[in-house]
Amino acid sequence: MAQLIDLKVGFSCNNNCIHCVISDKTKEKDLSLEQIKELVNEYIQQYGEIQLTLTGGEVTIRKDFIQLMEFIKEKKDEGKIVFVDMQTNARMLFHDDRALAAAEVIDFFLVAIHSSISEVHDSITGAKGSFEQTKQAILNLKQFAGSDKIATQTVINQKNIGHLPDIYRFIIDELGLTECNITFPHPIGVCLSDKIVPTYDYAQKFINESLDFCLSRNVRPYIEAIPFCVWNPGTNRQYAIDFLNRRNIDVIGYGGEKDGTLDYASLFDEGHRKYTTCQKCPFFKECEGVWKEYLLIYPNEDMYKLYLRGVGN
Ligand code: SF4
Repeated sequence: MAQLIDLKVGFSCNNNCIHCVISDKTKEKDLSLEQIKELVNEYIQQYGEIQLTLTGGEVTIRKDFIQLMEFIKEKKDEGKIVFVDMQTNARMLFHDDRALAAAEVIDFFLVAIHSSISEVHDSITGAKGSFEQTKQAILNLKQFAGSDKIATQTVINQKNIGHLPDIYRFIIDELGLTECNITFPHPIGVCLSDKIVPTYDYAQKFINESLDFCLSRNVRPYIEAIPFCVWNPGTNRQYAIDFLNRRNIDVIGYGGEKDGTLDYASLFDEGHRKYTTCQKCPFFKECEGVWKEYLLIYPNEDMYKLYLRGVGN
């Protein structure tokens, strides 16, 4: 099976999101096209076949974006890259030429959209007009690549949590997409703040309503950093258990000058913690816990209380 590779091509970005996880790296120089080629060729040499995730920063704002797409295509044609996906805010793909070039090469797009309300999305991204560009880009990608090659990523924060279910309504009913993510933020860098990260306690209702809505439309979202206790007992909790059993985090990659080569499976284990009360929880063993930085913001949260909500009803 092809090795999963996550490649951060640089940290420049045209958004300035309030939940950004690479805010401490934006001073690092982006990889040149030559450096990207070198890294990709090294991975191919080491693993034979790879499945590549292109991420950043924002890949689509690179001046050499079209040349980058050409290089990836070459490697796909040689059978060395078997699948390539791109994590993007997609704003620049509102230009037809960039969207077309991307659609010819990229097998799957993960597009960040953080609200169904343009003003809220723009205030989260810190970029006026970003909502309209991202929305147009999604329409372009639907036309050039097809809806089945697009998923959305919505990072929960204090600005969007109150209308979270509406965001999934917008993604599924208005944009016509059938894949999406429900992602709890990783509180690092600028995101290490209770002004940005809500408590799971407060978010629980909106998270469950969002999953209820997705499942009612037969959409099965990817879920990230949301422990079992947050999910309502019954269908939602079972969905989370099944999801976790299917998930593959055996990913390695390049995380920039500061981080170098990364092994995401070990980082994942090191990055999580549980509360003392979690010991009472039947999921204690299999649960991944919460991001360890979450405990810095909310040292006194009782996740077990969330588990008990609804149990026995
Ligand atoms: S172990 Fe803690 S964080 Fe995990 S599901 Fe149970 S109460 Fe929640």
